[in-house]
Amino acid sequence: MKIRIGQGIDFHRFETGLKLWLGGVNIPSEKGCVAHSDGDVLIHAICDALLGASGLRDIGYYFPDTSSELKGIDSKIILERTFGLIHEKGYKIVNLDCTICLEKPKIASYVSEMRKTISSILCTESENVTIKATTTEKMGFTGREEGIIGMAVVLLSRG
Ligand SMILES: [Zn+2]
Repeated sequence: MKIRIGQGIDFHRFETGLKLWLGGVNIPSEKGCVAHSDGDVLIHAICDALLGASGLRDIGYYFPDTSSELKGIDSKIILERTFGLIHEKGYKIVNLDCTICLEKPKIASYVSEMRKTISSILCTESENVTIKATTTEKMGFTGREEGIIGMAVVLLSRG
């Protein structure tokens, strides 16, 4: 069996009055992400981890922010299409581990819904998808609530 690891990271700027989408879930928040798509920083990091692990290019290559077809797109569709690319190459998820870095809002009560949403798109059990959150202790751009970071590490296998 062949196994491959991949990592992904994504950043978005916060703006007051926009919707906050994280892990495919809409989370009540004063601020949301500025983006060409719905700005789901966690899903974008997961896509890059999947693409990296399977030896493909990055999310910007397959889903360019200049494409009018992708304007305002639900990132769950981007994740579905990305999974299609790695599935074509014969890969399955072993596990996916993620961290979201933000000051506010608290997301703990949404984590189980995010895990369910992501695992169903990736055709794996929700126990194979873990999501953690941290703050930067009020330091830096996340600490000043100017933006958010998503990080993901994935292990894939091919029989
Ligand atoms: Zn992004």
